[in-house]
Amino acid sequence: MSLFRSLSDSTDPGDSTVWLKEEHLFDPVTYRCRSCGKRFREAAVVCPNCKKTVSGIRTDPAWVDEMVVIEEIDD
Ligand SMILES: [Zn+2]
Repeated sequence: MSLFRSLSDSTDPGDSTVWLKEEHLFDPVTYRCRSCGKRFREAAVVCPNCKKTVSGIRTDPAWVDEMVVIEEIDD
């Protein structure tokens, strides 16, 4: 059982996550962990919350919603 665990620890692709980069109009960029959903100011190599290894950074395409809301207010 312990042998099986050590094997899956080194090869399991589910043990990593990515940062979803979120750009804000009036605030600094934040990085959201795709695995646990927590936001951080910096893109660390390991998520401080869920401890998963981060394999890369992606821009979250859903994040343009914030800009749409601002445009509606201006209009
Ligand atoms: Zn996380």
